[in-house]
Amino acid sequence: MKITVEDIHLGYNRRVAVDGVSFTVEPGEMVAIVGPNGSGKSTLLRGMSRLQKPSSGRVCLNGTDIRAMSARQVARNLAILAQSPDAGSDLTVRELVFRGRYPHQGILQRVTAADIEAVEWAMEAADTAQFASRSLGSLSGGERQRAWIALALAQQPQVLLLDEPTSFLDISHQVEVMHLLRRLNHEGMTVVAVLHDLVLAARFADRVIAMRAGRMEFDGPPVEVLEPDGLERVFGIPMMILTDPETGLPIPLPRPDPLLCPVAHTGSPLSPLAAPPS
Ligand code: ADP
Repeated sequence: MKITVEDIHLGYNRRVAVDGVSFTVEPGEMVAIVGPNGSGKSTLLRGMSRLQKPSSGRVCLNGTDIRAMSARQVARNLAILAQSPDAGSDLTVRELVFRGRYPHQGILQRVTAADIEAVEWAMEAADTAQFASRSLGSLSGGERQRAWIALALAQQPQVLLLDEPTSFLDISHQVEVMHLLRRLNHEGMTVVAVLHDLVLAARFADRVIAMRAGRMEFDGPPVEVLEPDGLERVFGIPMMILTDPETGLPIPLPRPDPLLCPVAHTGSPLSPLAAPPS
């Protein structure tokens, strides 16, 4: 399914958070959104679902404005995993994941064999089946994160939006989640994920969109757009790009600061921090 963002503006009261952003994600594409804190990434993602209403512009699924669709219709096609989602901590993982089936259930909300199958598949895919009966409150941050991913998958969406799906995860689970997203993506799911980790974005995304101060700074394949000047403009620090010897993909890194990196240390004195308040 194709998702189109047309000149979208989003904000909070009078504060502008997303200031005229447009792009299209084709069916089966995987796009990473990167950018510094406060640049509008989460707001943009919320605007792409029905969570936040744009002050102008529109978002379309296969050409239909999501505002012209019911919340249920949108939820049958699009799932969003927002940042630090909230649910009762007494809820078990299985109960949480079942919530992903609501958009597919009839008015009687009878659980069908298809619901059970989708929930079991989603818990397996997100590596949560082993703690299906445990309460959310008893899980580690990473385990809880995977339970939320399972919830989104149980919805069986054609478009999946994720806000920092790898935060709280150790490196093996980060890679596992990215592999899972890539696999779903190969099977036809359109995936848009806000990622903090530029290395993961470069390795797994077909396209990287960078946000800065509510606007899009660049949009393109990682090999074309991840270069020092663009990244420096976006993040405001000196950056460098290595090349992955196995894939040829860029590995963006902050340039080492000679004063702070032990190996490159030149012996110049560090300027003192301001004294703490007494
Ligand atoms: P990012 O995801 O890139 O960190 P956000 O979309 O969360 O950025 O925030 C963009 C801007 O909107 C920031 O200036 C932030 O302070 C502001 N903002 C975000 N959420 C709210 C809110 N609930 N109320 C008021 N301002 C908000």
